[in-house]
Amino acid sequence: MTQKQILQAKARSLRSQMRKLGSMMQGSVIFRQMKCGKPNCRCTRGYPHSFLVVTYKEEGKTKTVYVNKNRQAEALFLSKNYKEYRKLLKELTKVNLQILRLD
Ligand SMILES: [Zn+2]
Repeated sequence: MTQKQILQAKARSLRSQMRKLGSMMQGSVIFRQMKCGKPNCRCTRGYPHSFLVVTYKEEGKTKTVYVNKNRQAEALFLSKNYKEYRKLLKELTKVNLQILRLD
């Protein structure tokens, strides 16, 4: 195999991995803790309410979306896929640049 063929095989494998990823979304998925303000709630005794938010940028502004308890796994999955996609794209870029530099 020539150097070019090896690199092309690498690129094909990366593209195939990218296609296999499910849906995805940009943004950060973070757990936040909060006190609700009710005087007798458990959150006043050191057990704050925990919830998941997605923050993302839209036209330069940071937006926050609250995620329902029953959708948390979905949000984490979408975010994880985007991170994986970005990692693969970075690798694919490196390989394609190597191909472009070949004689
Ligand atoms: Zn509370």
